[in-house]
Amino acid sequence: MRPRQRFVVAAALLLLTACTAAPAGTSAPPPAARVVRAVHQMVAVAHPAAAKVGLDILRQGGSAVDAAIAMQMVLTLVEPQSSGIGGGGFLLHYAAEGGAIDSYDGRETAPESANAEMFLGDDGRPRKFADVMPGGLSVGVPGTLRMLELAHREHGRLPWRVLFQPAIALAEDGFIVSPRLAAEIAEDPVLGTQPTTRSYFFGPDGTPIASGTLLKNPALARTLRAVAENGADAFYEGRIAADIARTVNGAEPNRGGMTVADIGTYQAEKRPVPCLDYREARVCSMGPSSSGGIAVLQTLGMLRHFNLAALRPDGIDAVHLIAEASRLAFADRERYIGDPDFAPVPADRLLDADYLAGRAAEIDLARSMGEAQPGRPTEASLLGALPARQIAEPLSTSHMSVVDRDGNAVSFTTSIEGAFGAHLMVDGFLLNNQLTDFAFTPAARGRAAANRVEPGKRPRSSMSPTLVFDAKSGALRAVLGSPGGANIIGYVTQALIGLIDWQRDPYAAIAAPHFLNRNGPTILEADRDIRSLGSELEARGHKVKMQELSSGANVIVLEGATLLGASDPRREGIALGD
Ligand code: GLU
Repeated sequence: MRPRQRFVVAAALLLLTACTAAPAGTSAPPPAARVVRAVHQMVAVAHPAAAKVGLDILRQGGSAVDAAIAMQMVLTLVEPQSSGIGGGGFLLHYAAEGGAIDSYDGRETAPESANAEMFLGDDGRPRKFADVMPGGLSVGVPGTLRMLELAHREHGRLPWRVLFQPAIALAEDGFIVSPRLAAEIAEDPVLGTQPTTRSYFFGPDGTPIASGTLLKNPALARTLRAVAENGADAFYEGRIAADIARTVNGAEPNRGGMTVADIGTYQAEKRPVPCLDYREARVCSMGPSSSGGIAVLQTLGMLRHFNLAALRPDGIDAVHLIAEASRLAFADRERYIGDPDFAPVPADRLLDADYLAGRAAEIDLARSMGEAQPGRPTEASLLGALPARQIAEPLSTSHMSVVDRDGNAVSFTTSIEGAFGAHLMVDGFLLNNQLTDFAFTPAARGRAAANRVEPGKRPRSSMSPTLVFDAKSGALRAVLGSPGGANIIGYVTQALIGLIDWQRDPYAAIAAPHFLNRNGPTILEADRDIRSLGSELEARGHKVKMQELSSGANVIVLEGATLLGASDPRREGIALGD
């Protein structure tokens, strides 16, 4: 068995002991068995311990935002490799009363010392991802707590401090290290070489912490207690901020240059919410500084010109068509999307119906177009953008979906970027390496990159927390999202097509074998039946690559009075509801 397969089986065993509706390995019971049903409230999240806490907060009368905050604090402890208070994220909120959708941008920012050349080597060429990732240079000012504080101010119901108590107790009493966390610790080439992570994730004899170990994190408990009592200020000012700056600036290799002023001035932002009508649904997702929502919606906006329901799900025609639409969306993403506070992003134009109809017309059903070129949604001269190729992103991140008993919903994707972030631990939590999501080269072909590094700027993300509504009635229909770096865009699009065109149940929609195109080769999920499409795709002009694809979608579908929840079998998540 390959390591990943071993993990899937081990994770299945863990989950089967944790809950009745747990996912199992790849050869498994029929999809319907994996759908969790509820009528009042539900959470779907990356770890059973977080799900338990989230549901408990809902049972106490907490709102969807309250549950999300409590679950994020638990994930900081039990899934530290993926997300936490040392990182950032994007949260979409739906208010059942009034129907307002708010989107919160808690993306990390570059410190004032950052500059467009910071990821170039002495030879003027971009340094390798693996060289710049560990240490202080890649760390952005964390945004998670400021963003959650803002969302709580607007949509919280329980007192802020109450939401931290479960994670504090778990950090003090200890949690059981999961198979996935243990596997990631053991496989990580850097974790054991960094003093701040070695002491926590390895035993005194240098052995990686094993699955099943009870692990305590008193430093995190102290940090969370301070934030519980004094709000996010306790993190962004005073001792913890000073500890973050000292750790970033003293890191070896790659000393950073972050000041307490960088941390103290961080602000979460509320952003316009991009939405698009797709068949009978209205799909809303996250706008810039994430590229995710626009790329997902553009892909759907092209696909609505084709009858996908008539095509065999995951068959050659559907895969070809979706791959081609996706490459067109990725070409626009590369050209036009960066932090909107630094260069205007023509979001409305990119989602314009006529523009997308024109882009859809570029698709040839019989033949791949090869590398797609960006379109011209507007006067290109207005924009400071260019095709700056993104470095491959290793996988981390977490997505949670929540619906509370009043029908409010949260779709929240949260990340420290790569697994274990910058591999720096301070006061019990890991610091992100999110600045590696910037373009490493400041310019190409004589044009400045929209996603180049600039002080105070947010690196372009792919996170795509999504809400689906009935286009006619406006009723909420689904809450979903996934981790997976730039592949998030494909995972979320594919799940939406599964739900909307192919009428799949939520588990089948996210467990289906993946196929992706990021305007390069068409990537098929390794070890799944879909790989048999390889030669047919090649015959249509695609370059084909097989790859393990570690999505981790968590989805809640609303069907009348029933909530249907499902969690991606590729990770350790679980849906729980009443
Ligand atoms: N840093 C990535 C982003 O913001 C997410 C990383 C991942 O999902 O692995 O798009």
